[in-house]
Amino acid sequence: MKKRVILMGPPGGGKGTQAKSLTAAMHIPHISTGDMLRAARREGTELGKQADRYISAGQLVPDDLVNGIVAERLSSEKDGYLLDGYPRTIAQADALEAAGEKIDAVVLIDVPDELLVERIVNRESCGQCGAVYHKLTMPSKKPGVCDVCGGALVQRADDNEKVVRDRLVAYHAQTQPLVDYYKSRGLLFHINGNAAVDVVFEEIRKALEF
Ligand code: ADP
Repeated sequence: MKKRVILMGPPGGGKGTQAKSLTAAMHIPHISTGDMLRAARREGTELGKQADRYISAGQLVPDDLVNGIVAERLSSEKDGYLLDGYPRTIAQADALEAAGEKIDAVVLIDVPDELLVERIVNRESCGQCGAVYHKLTMPSKKPGVCDVCGGALVQRADDNEKVVRDRLVAYHAQTQPLVDYYKSRGLLFHINGNAAVDVVFEEIRKALEF
């Protein structure tokens, strides 16, 4: 089983949804820089305050801020992990390599841009447990209430059409170059993300050999 895994893909591509199932099945921690940055923002830490204006504008948070929190977290993970939303730039990938982390696989979930905007503006998630829903295609049983834990469903402030378009621009400009970076290292697995959630999961399971 490949246990040091990077999950890559555009915003709304299904990384968060797959990450939850994968980490449960593989018994490895889910390390999401988006979640870490949002937690810092909620707690009002210095990092959270600095990150806020980038997140709200759909831009990437500067590399040195993100590299710092990831390095700290990874140093305590010796038995594998699933990285979700990191690295997102070549500089971040270089920092990960320089830290001596040996990645086993990079899973790229690919979804066409026109589908992503529709997915994201209809996305809501549980404020308590993080479960993700789609208002039209995967609604909760009771509107606004999480099926899993009964928590209130919320929409992320950056999940609106204007900010999503800026996040897609950032993805294509800054994150897409990582595809070649990891392809040239023989680590890349290309997965079609325009398929049912369980079909995508099965494709990833095969790639990661578990
Ligand atoms: P999505 O993949 O849907 O855009 P994330 O939760 O991964 O959502 O990220 C939300 C925001 O957090 C990004 O738009 C960006 O501002 C910031 N962010 C997350 N990860 C990184 C990273 N590795 N480098 C820079 N900024 C990041």
